[in-house]
Amino acid sequence: MKILKFGGKSLDNGLGIAKVVEIITDNHKKGPSPIVVVSARGNSTDTLIALIEKARRGEEFKEDLSLFWQHQTESSDIKFENEQTQLLNLLTGISLVGECSPKLKDEIISYGEILSARFVAHRLEQQGYNAIAIDSGDFFLTDAQFGSASVHIEASRAKCREVFDRLSRSCIPIVTGFIARSKDGHRTTLGRNGSNYSAALLANFLDADMMENYTHIDGIYTANPTVVPEARKMDELSYSDASELSQFGAEILHIKTIEPLQEKNIPLWILNTFGYGSKQNGTLVTTSPKAKSVRALASLTQKALIHFEGRNMLGRSGIDARIFATFKSVDVSVSLVSQGSTERGIAIVVDESDADKAVEALHQEFRQDISEGKTTKIYAEKGLAIVAIIGLNLSEFDRPYRALVRNRIVPLLLNNSVPDNTLCLLVRGEEERVKALNVIHGEMFERPKRVHLAVIGHGTVGGALIDQIIHQHAQLKEQKNIDLRIFAIANSRQLLLSRKGIGEGWQEQLQQSTHEGNMAEAIVEYGRKFALENMILVDNTSSESIAAEYSYFASNGFDIVSSNKKSNVAPYSEYTHLRETLKKHRRSYRYETNVGAGLPLIDNLKLLHLAGERITRIHGLFSGSLSYIFNTLSEDPSRSFRDIVEESARRGLTEPDPREDLSGEDVARKVLILVRELDVPADLSDVSWENPVPEELRTLSREEFEARFGELENKIEEYRASCSPDEVLRYVGDIVWDETNQKATLTAALRRVSKNSPLGRVSGADSCFEIYTESYGSHPIVIQGAGAGAVVTARGVFGDLLRLAEGYEN
Ligand code: ASP
Ligand code: MG
Repeated sequence: MKILKFGGKSLDNGLGIAKVVEIITDNHKKGPSPIVVVSARGNSTDTLIALIEKARRGEEFKEDLSLFWQHQTESSDIKFENEQTQLLNLLTGISLVGECSPKLKDEIISYGEILSARFVAHRLEQQGYNAIAIDSGDFFLTDAQFGSASVHIEASRAKCREVFDRLSRSCIPIVTGFIARSKDGHRTTLGRNGSNYSAALLANFLDADMMENYTHIDGIYTANPTVVPEARKMDELSYSDASELSQFGAEILHIKTIEPLQEKNIPLWILNTFGYGSKQNGTLVTTSPKAKSVRALASLTQKALIHFEGRNMLGRSGIDARIFATFKSVDVSVSLVSQGSTERGIAIVVDESDADKAVEALHQEFRQDISEGKTTKIYAEKGLAIVAIIGLNLSEFDRPYRALVRNRIVPLLLNNSVPDNTLCLLVRGEEERVKALNVIHGEMFERPKRVHLAVIGHGTVGGALIDQIIHQHAQLKEQKNIDLRIFAIANSRQLLLSRKGIGEGWQEQLQQSTHEGNMAEAIVEYGRKFALENMILVDNTSSESIAAEYSYFASNGFDIVSSNKKSNVAPYSEYTHLRETLKKHRRSYRYETNVGAGLPLIDNLKLLHLAGERITRIHGLFSGSLSYIFNTLSEDPSRSFRDIVEESARRGLTEPDPREDLSGEDVARKVLILVRELDVPADLSDVSWENPVPEELRTLSREEFEARFGELENKIEEYRASCSPDEVLRYVGDIVWDETNQKATLTAALRRVSKNSPLGRVSGADSCFEIYTESYGSHPIVIQGAGAGAVVTARGVFGDLLRLAEGYEN
């Protein structure tokens, strides 16, 4: 024989109740006839509790009461006349005295289950079945602990058998869950969500073959799927794992449900009423599940941590005993406890609602110790949550823990229960709870590592990068297990946000979006709101104001990848301040493309420097744009300077206003960025750089400059003419380290170099860096290649992103 148990949501009006009737009658037809256990329908228990509260406060409750009855009888000809009178009398009584005892409360809320059983029996009878509503108070005998009474097992077993022995085989019993009676006949209840427990007891007493628990979810999940979208349904699980889970997820399984079933080896199915008949439906709880061990996450909210601190507690025995006795005296139940080996204090987790009571009682108990200075502090920290990891060995905890810390969650307390492999973390607040569950779930079940990008700037580099990321998304997920999601795209006026990741068509979506207020704050706030993990700010603007926000982003959990040079050429104090902030918040900042576009320069330079290699000189063509202009100029004497400058702007190799490149300032900046990598505290003013643009042309408008371009051209032609036949012009950056004076000479200037020298041989838009070091002597390390262009720069930024994202994996 089977026990079918139906939860409140399954029994609600409409589809639910129709399915319930279908399930019961299907089972009855297949035989043997099942025993049905029901919860109160819909939210009836909550509604009854709310009615009691209203009555107790002397407020008008009749309207709510009539809604309650409407709900109970909807689309049925069932009449509950007696019950209506009784309930009205009870509530009127409460409103007269302004009080409701726990005993009376149990009496009233038991109506939820009683009406439910009668309703279901009535429905079945209407369809020609022989069904009978049974009040479980007729056989569940309990103590008088109203609200969560304990069942007297053996007495109840005997009574139960008596009742069911008398029943005709053809009759379908519809039994109330949750409710019982004390020995002297008063109504009691078994604790919220107690119907599962009632059904399990019944299964045990009557030696059922199986219990099917019909709910509104598909089974037991590896985590609450409304919080962790990746949570997976578990097909099978052992009694002990189920019972460990029920400690946390009391919503699905009442804590006591498993024991009576385990005792008699009765398998339990958790099923979805609304998915009745589907193959995917359900989780089976048995002695021998297919998978040996289960891993799952659960959490409890509204917890508080009571801190108890004192001096010289080491060796003073009896303090803990007094603390726990105090908790007992005010009926506060303790969950996690932590005490350091030095016994400077003890920290105890309790329900938030008990926290004040507990602190007050401790103050009372220890007032003498407080006045003598032995106890120094007793206080409660509220708004905490417990996140429980079930089935994870401590030896595997390093990955989830590192992932937590990376996401700036440092648990207040860690606690493991040895035999059950359950690890509990205490975290602060809802945001941390949600984030912790998602981060740990990702690590435990190896879902692709989610990396959340906020991309600011979508010009030539930014736009190319966004397209590259969208294009590579599937492959990265498949091959590298990295789910690279762009959650924000912004320019100075518009902001597009999507936690699920922005894809094709982003240009149009961005166009339609508008934004007012502080962009950085809006992005940070969004990341916080959805508890996004592994966030990276990607800056492809050339904006100083965005660069100024890096510290703000870093202190809010973002790593930074940037092709924007502005922050690296900021005054040295700002430069170091950002690095301190990054260090403090353990954030990374990568900017390989700041010099030499996508060439692997900065990373290599950093490594050499860190490895203790003394770098004596860096010399070369630091600007791909200038390289292109001067290489072309020397290759083809017939082409005019103007023609070459115009062509390179058209090809996106230089800025639209040629003065920006030709001024040499960009090379000076790169000199500064590189020398700072060597820990030299320089500023832009320390670089002496030559600006080939005549002074009088520098401040002109674009148009005026175009008109007087010839003056610049003449100057360059003069330079060209001054070259001997085996010389060419190059704009050269140079960092020379003077070991004796511990000083670097920094220059950027137009120079004549030999055609056959490495710099003289460079062609196209290549950059070229010669790195001279102590061990390499006069043979420099040369890094050369495409040093300008949107696509190569975007690839370089992408490389930085991937290096960060891969780091997140360990
Ligand atoms: N109706 C009760 C409650 O809502 C018992 C149950 O549903 O299991 O707590
Ligand atoms: Mg319920």
